[in-house]
Amino acid sequence: MNEIPERLARVRQRIAAAAAANGREPDEVTLLAVSKTKPVAELSAAHRAGQRLFGENYLQDALPKMRALADLDIEWHFIGRIQSNKTADISRHFTWVHGLDRLKHAQRLSTQRAATQPPLQICLQVNLSGQASKGGITPEALPGLATEVSMLPGLRLRGLMTLPNPDSSRQTQRSMFARLRGLLHELQDTGLAMDTLSMGMSADLEDAVAEGATIVRIGSDIFGPRT
Ligand SMILES: *Cc1c(COP(=O)(O)O)cnc(C)c1O
Repeated sequence: MNEIPERLARVRQRIAAAAAANGREPDEVTLLAVSKTKPVAELSAAHRAGQRLFGENYLQDALPKMRALADLDIEWHFIGRIQSNKTADISRHFTWVHGLDRLKHAQRLSTQRAATQPPLQICLQVNLSGQASKGGITPEALPGLATEVSMLPGLRLRGLMTLPNPDSSRQTQRSMFARLRGLLHELQDTGLAMDTLSMGMSADLEDAVAEGATIVRIGSDIFGPRT
């Protein structure tokens, strides 16, 4: 846990270096600290070191942490698989959802967002690896879903997210990041006001930043390996 400030600083340096190498400003890339399975004390340590955005995959794991850290100015991002019976809690407790890939879930999240809350910020997950297990919609189905989601009042469609196949080559992964950027541009060209590319994890953040990532989701390089 004592290493968290140093690890965070190192990740921030990597982001800044990757941005500079690609003619981008460091503040064009936001660091989302992926704290799934990690205890409250480690999230607090990261918060003391200046981290404000945290990503969680499992609702049951996240809710107690949110309660414990309710006094802190944390922005919570849900990055896990969405289950229909969890959409109410996801919609109420999180500011962002990154893994949306079904209209049915979108409709539920929109309806269940409290009228007093600002719209839930949404990234659609796109499956570029062809691995069925990974979730995400196909690039072919993306424009239809994006149009539908953009019209839901409780949601604000912000961008796209992808999870590359960890077994594929670095070059293949990078080409998937480039592909996601291309898909975002195509949607922007149809008039959708989207601005976010959620891509890049501990092992590939440099490639993701090179291809235009605006949010990188980093877990193990901040908190250490998950057990
Ligand atoms: C766990 C996870 C991450 C972080 O992965 P690391 O390799 O630990 O940085 C990012 N995105 C999603 C969707 C995850 O589930």
